[in-house]
Amino acid sequence: MSDQTGTVRPVQGGRILVKGAHLLTQDPAIGDLVGDVLVEDGRISEVSQSIEVSGEVRVVDGSRKALLPGMIDTHRHAWQGAIRSLGPSWSYPQYRDHVQIGLGPYFEPEDVRIGNLAADLMALDAGITTVRDESHIMNSPEHSDAAIDAHWSSGIRCVFGHGWPSTEAESWQFGSDRHHPDDIRRVREQVLNDDTARVTLYAMLRGPELSTPEIACGDIATARELDLRISMHVGLGEWGVKQQAVRRLFGSGELGPDMTFIHCCTTTDEELRMMADHGATASVAAALEVFMPGLGQPATNRLLKAGIRPSLSVDVESAVSGDMFGVMRAALAYQQLLSAGVAGGMDTGKDLPTFDAADLLSFATIEGARACGIDDRTGSISPGKEADLILMSLSDPNLLPANDVASALVTGAHAGNVEMVMVAGRILKSEGRISGAEDIVDAAAASSRRVHRAAGLQIPTSD
Ligand SMILES: [Zn+2]
Repeated sequence: MSDQTGTVRPVQGGRILVKGAHLLTQDPAIGDLVGDVLVEDGRISEVSQSIEVSGEVRVVDGSRKALLPGMIDTHRHAWQGAIRSLGPSWSYPQYRDHVQIGLGPYFEPEDVRIGNLAADLMALDAGITTVRDESHIMNSPEHSDAAIDAHWSSGIRCVFGHGWPSTEAESWQFGSDRHHPDDIRRVREQVLNDDTARVTLYAMLRGPELSTPEIACGDIATARELDLRISMHVGLGEWGVKQQAVRRLFGSGELGPDMTFIHCCTTTDEELRMMADHGATASVAAALEVFMPGLGQPATNRLLKAGIRPSLSVDVESAVSGDMFGVMRAALAYQQLLSAGVAGGMDTGKDLPTFDAADLLSFATIEGARACGIDDRTGSISPGKEADLILMSLSDPNLLPANDVASALVTGAHAGNVEMVMVAGRILKSEGRISGAEDIVDAAAASSRRVHRAAGLQIPTSD
């Protein structure tokens, strides 16, 4: 825990009863209903049409509001939370040159801590209660510790991906012959060894797409020895087509249900079926993939055809907005192109299944929990799960009349409609406000100036 500048202050925990809300539970045994949810000791204890309780309880009026499980972003490079919106029209090589190679080496541990806090703050504000932080800024053990410390401070649920450094960034990707940093052992043994905690560890590996087959094999063995789940970026533009990482993992017998594959834009249909057959999960960063040329197009529909319901992710806030509403809308926009027959090369002329607003909400919640291996704890409004919940106002002008709640949220919602956010029963956003946010905003602005100056790069301005 940290008592430094930038700690989100929870409003209240305790016993909470939400009454009369539209419940989009994401639990097929319960379904959607207008009803009540009782939270006790940080967990959902009861879900029903009407709950009466005696004793001390905070009652939250849910009328004309929707209660959902908190959204789960399964892939965000949170360290970039304070260098937002640098390149909305960047190509993938431009992003790599500017951020990973240009700015990354100049991040001090404190910049990583502030960046992560800013990312968590934005996420919580927009109703994201779990972030999987793909942290490829492990420039030193102090960087790792600062990154993790921020997630404890913010109050968010975090699945922390120990990645590689941004120093000498080019040597760590695209054919790298360097093994994953050994500090992951220290982090596992001394920092994040409790897999039931609010912040848990997994291994963000480069796999056979970004490192040599021998290195990939060794890194996977290390992760499994440490009993860590694994993520990999695959299907990245032409490089993905050339490397066929999933096929290689299938061939070496390493493909498994502990793996989440991120992007999959140019992963072949056959590889997607291999993933499905082995219980692997996927993360589609639809907004980033649509906005940033060079990666390929969102694989949402092809994944569905292969039998995988994907999770969704933001990726980098240096190029796209950090909320899941934009990600859901980008996925829909691309599906429309696909239906119109003007989609990208991997999809053209194929008979692909489609998805709707309700599907997108499930991708953003329960499927995210599955991809992180935490669906026994979060991702749906189910009795016994930890109370990661968001309350959305349906009477705001931009959402009226909200006859179909899922469609209204996917079509029109933004962070301003998120009225209350709760993680494990602790209310972090209340009446539309996060307490403690101001300090983080100021620190983020200072950090952005510092890293740009240190890197000798101009801070973008409107002038
Ligand atoms: Zn990424």
